[in-house]
Amino acid sequence: MPECPKCHQFVESRAIACPHCRTSLKAHGHPGMKLFRATEGEPLCANCAYHADDSCNFPKRPYALDCTLYQDVRQSQVRSPQYDASFQLQRWVKRNTPLLWIIGLLGISLAVVLMRR
Ligand code: SF4
Ligand SMILES: [Zn+2]
Repeated sequence: MPECPKCHQFVESRAIACPHCRTSLKAHGHPGMKLFRATEGEPLCANCAYHADDSCNFPKRPYALDCTLYQDVRQSQVRSPQYDASFQLQRWVKRNTPLLWIIGLLGISLAVVLMRR
């Protein structure tokens, strides 16, 4: 059974997210998908975006010579979440939601006080 690349707990080979740490997993593989094959003896993983962002839990990684979920990192629009500004902003907002509510309520209170004068 493959393990999660982040928390190293065992996960189902077709899991799309780690049940332990919720990391999204890319290499679950589903029937009917195109099978990519290495052409020059070099494993596909060497140039795969999911190896680069460490989200692959496919057991063949990092030596896969064929894979259904290979994504060429040189042509990929897949960005590492750590460097994605909107992802960072979303995470910050999620983490600071109570603070944002307090600031919002203070702002409304201040507006009400100023309007009464
Ligand atoms: S090519 Fe390698 S890193 Fe990419 S999805 Fe397949 S097994 Fe994972
Ligand atoms: Zn995990």
